[in-house]
Formats: sequence, structure tokens, C-alpha cells
Amino acid sequence: MSAVVGFDLDRTLVYSAAALLLDGPDESAPSLVVTEVYQHTPLSFMTRAAETALAALAERATVVPVTTRTVAQYRRIRLPLPAAGWAVTTNGAVLLHDGRPDDAWTASLRAEIDATSAPLEAAEELMLAELPAAALLRNHRAEELFAYAVVDRAALPEHTVTDLAAALLAIGWTVSLQGRKLYAVPVAIRKERALAAVAERVGSTMTVAAGDSLLDRDMLAAADVAIRPAHGELHAAGWTAPNLLVTGAVGVMAGQEIIELAARAVDDDSR
Ligand SMILES: [Mg+2]
Repeated sequence: MSAVVGFDLDRTLVYSAAALLLDGPDESAPSLVVTEVYQHTPLSFMTRAAETALAALAERATVVPVTTRTVAQYRRIRLPLPAAGWAVTTNGAVLLHDGRPDDAWTASLRAEIDATSAPLEAAEELMLAELPAAALLRNHRAEELFAYAVVDRAALPEHTVTDLAAALLAIGWTVSLQGRKLYAVPVAIRKERALAAVAERVGSTMTVAAGDSLLDRDMLAAADVAIRPAHGELHAAGWTAPNLLVTGAVGVMAGQEIIELAARAVDDDSR
């Protein structure tokens, strides 16, 4: 198989109830499958048609989930992919093969992070100081590599995100706001680098990538064919590129369309 297909997960392949963006009467809603259970409750979904299309695509390309989720958060996701496949978590800081992290990959990144970004404590402190108390619901660390806050979007002025992004960039950190989560990530931790490492290891000659957020942008720009949904951070910014396809649908139906567009790109390439 010569093509690698990197899919962001949240709001690209899988959707929480709040992100489904279904319209029309309930009786014509698509069949959904549960892709994640959290604390015994269904948390994310894809359409049944998307699940079928993804399984078919995985038979003719190397499908790689590429997510900002931590390894533990990723392990809750159920996709119809080979158990012995590849996945990228923690925004590119962890490379999983056969379910096992490639420790050499993470170690080499850590050295680079130390050289190019201020320590996690400094970035976290700056983020917490900049966020209005009313907007900050919870804050977390992802595997001691980066920080994220769960925020109340209604209480978060737009200029706060812009100001925070500028302040953090000055110390080597990138900011991304996705749904209720505000991420601060060292500039060296990038999804496209991990996806390129997978492409190299499997000997692929063509890369398709899909994603919805600022943390996906460079992965989309680096791909031969890029796909984004008509929702999310990149859509709100009107981001475009010569290699980019944008879905007609939004929400979970865009997730299905993304898989169909990726499958078409893989088939066109192998013709
Ligand atoms: Mg996403």
C-alpha cells in the first residue's frame, strides 16, 4: 500500500453530541455508531456509513489517526482499523505502532522541545494568568508535554486568545482553541512530523491528511491532498491552500464526507 492517510480525530472523524450539527427532522437523521465511551456513557460518534467507508479505506491505504489526545484518551476511541496499525497521539509527540509507543521518537522530541520552547510551567502560568477566572473551568497537562484548559467560550473574550497566542509564541508555544479546549503546545510538537515519520517507515509515496483545527494546519499544508470540514477553527479563519478540499457538509456528516474524499484521492493516485 503506497498511500498514507492521516486523520485528525475530534471534529474530523469523531463527534461529540454537541458537535454533530445535525439538521432536518430527527426521523431522517443518519444511523450513528458510538466511537467512544467515557465513564460508562457514550461520548463520541460517527455515522454508520462513515465507519463502513473507513474500514474499506483501511484495506487499501495506511490509515493513521493523528490526534492531540493523550495516549489514554486515544485508547478510548474505537475505529475499524487494523490492531497492528499506526497512530499519532499527543499532537505528534507519541508514535504508536501495534499499540506501543516509540520511546526513541518521544525522547528525541523532548530534547528539541527543551531547546526551542520555555518550560511547561512557564507556559501554563502565562495561560492561567491571561484567562479570566470566569472563563477557566479546569486546567490539565497532557503527558507533561503540554497544557490545556477547559474554558467557557461565552466568558472568553476573543482578544484574550489572540493576546495569549502572541505571548506564548514569543516563548516557543502555539495556541489552539477547539470547542471547549484551549491548548498550549510547544512549537516542536507537530502532527505533520509524526505523520511524515509513519510515511517513511511504511514506504509510502502519497499522503492524504484531514483536520479541522489550527494544530492540523501544517499537516494539511504538507500533504499531497488535504481535506478539512466546513466547520471548526480553520473554517472560521477561512484557511485555504492549493491542495485543499473542503466538505460541503458540516458536523458528523462532514466526517463521513472526509472519508469519502480521502478514499477518492487514494483511488485516483493508484490508477
Ligand atoms: Mg480536531
